[in-house]
Amino acid sequence: MKFEDYHINPAIKKSLEKLGFKKPTDIQFKAIPPILKGEDVLAIAQTGTGKTAAFAIPVLHMLHERKQYARQDGIKCLVMVPTRELAIQITEVFQTLGKHTRVNTLTVYGGVEQAPQISKLEDGVDILVATPGRMFDLVSQGHIRLERVEVLILDEADHMLDLGFIKDIRDVLRHLPRKRQTLFFSATINEYIKDLAYSLVTKPIRIQISPKDPVSKNVDHSVAYIGMDDKRFFLERVIKENEGSKILVFVRTKVRAERVHAAMERVEIKADTLHGDKDQKDRLTALNRFKKGEVKVLIATDVSSRGIDIPSVEYVVNYDLPDVPENYVHRVGRTGRGTQKGKSVSFCSPEEKPILDEIEKYLGKPIKVLDIEKQDYTATIDFSAEVKPDLKSLMKEIHDFEEATKKKKKPKKK
Ligand code: AMP
Repeated sequence: MKFEDYHINPAIKKSLEKLGFKKPTDIQFKAIPPILKGEDVLAIAQTGTGKTAAFAIPVLHMLHERKQYARQDGIKCLVMVPTRELAIQITEVFQTLGKHTRVNTLTVYGGVEQAPQISKLEDGVDILVATPGRMFDLVSQGHIRLERVEVLILDEADHMLDLGFIKDIRDVLRHLPRKRQTLFFSATINEYIKDLAYSLVTKPIRIQISPKDPVSKNVDHSVAYIGMDDKRFFLERVIKENEGSKILVFVRTKVRAERVHAAMERVEIKADTLHGDKDQKDRLTALNRFKKGEVKVLIATDVSSRGIDIPSVEYVVNYDLPDVPENYVHRVGRTGRGTQKGKSVSFCSPEEKPILDEIEKYLGKPIKVLDIEKQDYTATIDFSAEVKPDLKSLMKEIHDFEEATKKKKKPKKK
């Protein structure tokens, strides 16, 4: 079905046409009809699915088509979002799609002066897009009145909870009329989100847009929580436990590539590095050695691996998490090619947790966590060959001592 076949006001269709939106996306197809009917909606959908227009189109239509219309009546639709960036982005979508309608949209968010926002509010607003903190401040000061709100939208509810906005959200909600339409959008769902959602919606239409899993089904990928300074011990363990496998190790920078290489050398693991500081010839040599299996471990940066045909490998280790979530997919995609099976593990230090969150958001689901028991964790470090030299020399000392005493005790040959 195309947008032109939808029962939406021509003023909005005109903007859709200008934007080049011909057909609704999956979420739009599923959400627009129930929203137009006035139903509550509970949707699990990520950014990139077209979710903004999924609520903006029907809300603009409903407000534009009203017979009795006065902006001074007060805010009719409230959109709560976690960040200033998202507030601006969503406001732009409402403004672009609503360009030929009589509906106006304003945004308020924290971190900037209140006064200009207050004066704009006084001019009258139909749709207000706001972050919860600033929203709550303005409501408490009496600059925003919410008793005329007919539609409440919560977008990226999971992110709002992560940022600790739950109290502000609840405080704002107390000012809203009970009889209203509520549209609840979240990228992920867990018990907390369900609790919040079901405390707000009534008999909602549930919509779940499962993003195409960007990681191949052939790859068994997981994450292990490991302190930054302990990563080398765990890499050593992965390599030793997978002897004979081709292992590609990704690190954040070329300096780290060399450092990890040196750490592996110390424990007698043969590896090569691939990074931007190496000239083309050296890079090709490293790559060929790896291809032929002469060297089983290749330590690379994202930049150096781009555009180079790295052969399929059995194991990918994200020694550092990639800064850009998409790179997770590129890295992990180096294994499990075609019909082959592959494995991948990512070492996530506490500092890297926010990056992991971003990656999981991009993937649309959490990555399996490898539970490492405390004992096992300590043992991995203790059994590293890096601490063994002491043990080795100790053993050698004992051996030499025993040999010496044996010699002493041996009766002399006649
Ligand atoms: P969102 O998930 O709302 O952030 O939207 C993701 C992107 O999809 C934005 O760049 C939109 O402009 C675009 N988009 C939304 N709906 C459509 C559509 N029906 N056809 C083509 N592009 C769309």
